[in-house]
Amino acid sequence: MRDPRYDVLFEPVALGPVTARNRFFQVPHCNGMGHRDPTAHAVMRGVKAEGGWAVVCTEEVEFHPDSDFSGFIEGRLWDDDDLPAHERLVEQVHAHGALAGIELAHNGMASANLYGRIPPQGPSHLPVSGYEPIQARQMSLADIAELRRQHRTAVRRSLRAGYDLVYVYAAHGLTTLQHFLSPHTNHRGDEYGGSLENRARLLREILEDTREECEGTAAVACRIVVDELQGADGIERSTIDELFGFLGELPDVWDVMVGYWPDDSPTSRFAHEAWTEEYFRGIKQLTSKPVVGVGWLTSPDTMVRLVRDGVLDLIGAARPSIADPFLPRKIDEGRLEDIRECIGCNVCVTGDWTTTPIRCTQNPSMGEEWRRGWHPERFRPKGSDARVLVVGAGPAGLEAAMALGKRGYEVVLAEATRELGGRVVREARLPGLAPWIRVVDYRRSQLARLPNVEQALESEVTADEILGYGFQHVAVATGARWRADGVGRWHTSPLPIAEATEVLTPDDLLAGRRPVGERVLLFDDDHYYLGGVLAELLAGEGKAVTLVTPAVRVSEWTVNTMEQSRIHRRLADAGVAIETAHALLSVEGGSAWIACVYTKRERELPCDALVAVTARLPQDAVAEELLARRGEWGDGGVLSVRAVGDALAPGTIATAVWDGRRYAEELDTVVDGLPFRREVVRLASAS
Ligand code: ADP
Ligand code: SF4
Repeated sequence: MRDPRYDVLFEPVALGPVTARNRFFQVPHCNGMGHRDPTAHAVMRGVKAEGGWAVVCTEEVEFHPDSDFSGFIEGRLWDDDDLPAHERLVEQVHAHGALAGIELAHNGMASANLYGRIPPQGPSHLPVSGYEPIQARQMSLADIAELRRQHRTAVRRSLRAGYDLVYVYAAHGLTTLQHFLSPHTNHRGDEYGGSLENRARLLREILEDTREECEGTAAVACRIVVDELQGADGIERSTIDELFGFLGELPDVWDVMVGYWPDDSPTSRFAHEAWTEEYFRGIKQLTSKPVVGVGWLTSPDTMVRLVRDGVLDLIGAARPSIADPFLPRKIDEGRLEDIRECIGCNVCVTGDWTTTPIRCTQNPSMGEEWRRGWHPERFRPKGSDARVLVVGAGPAGLEAAMALGKRGYEVVLAEATRELGGRVVREARLPGLAPWIRVVDYRRSQLARLPNVEQALESEVTADEILGYGFQHVAVATGARWRADGVGRWHTSPLPIAEATEVLTPDDLLAGRRPVGERVLLFDDDHYYLGGVLAELLAGEGKAVTLVTPAVRVSEWTVNTMEQSRIHRRLADAGVAIETAHALLSVEGGSAWIACVYTKRERELPCDALVAVTARLPQDAVAEELLARRGEWGDGGVLSVRAVGDALAPGTIATAVWDGRRYAEELDTVVDGLPFRREVVRLASAS
């Protein structure tokens, strides 16, 4: 039963000719599947509709080869050949009573057109974004007319596919419409440049074209950047007040956002819930049309407040809908304790950056709905009456035990310590990572309501004991430990580190140990968040920290979570000395030797203590022993033993959760052929 406090979230909202059944609006978001994996994509969106979202949108959809966004895998609607993929998506979304929206995108100078090789276009002659050695050419009036024609054709095609809502996209720094609008990129002297009215001319024309095509059948949405965060050089919040004076009533719904994509989707390490509120306040008052916006909105109370305060009409969500596609339904049914709250880690974003299907730390079924048949809420029934022992209650063990429990197995979850959560509990205590504890919170609360899963805390189990317990299946999710010998990506054999050296690993720091020495050298050969976070921790505690990394950037891999520049800024602000493109060679007698990875030139740095963030070793001894004693399995009735999560192969929290789910899904299932389905496109004629 719904708490009346949330009734306001379930009021319908008219969007021009169509009506959203409630205020939950899944804004367009990338997913790394796009035109390559159309059915997987369609089914993923369908699951969101099933979960109660009123509007479910695509990611950005390229509508002409004049502007492709390769190598990112986005949506595509170039001609009628692309229609079936969109029809399928619409069908999936409609099947569950939601409206389907499409975000048409002309990326212009945001993309080098690597696939089609056609020179990119923009308002002015300027290099394309990124470092691709290609410039966009300044569009002529004929080019502008052609763009309008292409967009109009794409709108017609979108309507044929059955979409209820069509986007005009001028946001994220990603589209030509924004490039024209912004003084930062529009340096034209004709009627499309100069004054705001001129710079907005193309946006206005395309909005009018789209309206004309959609009239009476579909809603027109306009996604607009309300502050480019470039100061007076770009679009500022005050620009929007003026712009809405002449465009405010044109679309049926405004979708507002702040900055570029990395600004718009900050990790929880750098932003709090509803951080966009200060930018959105007052926008609704500029138009009679409904306004949707995002801001890492995960809590129903914040959502209600934003609606009641007149900040938003519709609650925009990408990440909260990824972590929990059933968020609206759970609020509606009064099941708040079942919400799988987004932790703000941006692992979902990495799918797009690595051009692989979307993934999520909290929701391991994300991206696997069609290809593996995983569902965020439903589990296939158990395949036997076997009893399962899960050893270790980190993210892998928790997920495995929960998913096995939901399948109906009798499960015992044995954990050596007195706490559930493993590495997550420890890492969530680090600066900025507190929301990560939600990985444990969700699973703890689910497990508490599964009578068939027994928890045995403070139970460090051995292979001997396990063989006597009478379980048929044993999942060993005992985690991994950081190495202290320097072995990692750069060095694959131990480093010469003098015995007297104070060496600490992340495990030591997470257990509360601290270096005695003042001058700490942190060697980060892991390249994700941990090295940077630990440097921040130690600098915050007053140590003189030097972070040395063989990569050219601090926390290199976090370019994929769009945090890298913020991390560098935070470390620099905290006084951490940064040595990029350098590898640690040796440590002895208060000094470390490092070498430039290009020139091999060596330098000496003072070093009272070394923190090595390099590689981990699986703590899989229990699994190894059980496997070595396979001959004794028959006596105890053991049928299978498998290491799971970090104990199998150390990785991220997301990979541990995912492997826990995989273990549970695959138990008593014969994997015949490929481990998952794929979609093979039909061959065209070779001649
Ligand atoms: P993962 O990320 O793979 O889930 P973690 O390191 O987070 O791994 O969690 C491993 C968990 O296993 C820890 O909570 C640890 O206390 C527990 N553990 C390790 N060895 C044993 C054991 N022999 N018996 C029970 N629990 C164990
Ligand atoms: Fe949220 Fe992280 Fe999942 Fe993305 S991957 S939806 S940020 S929990």
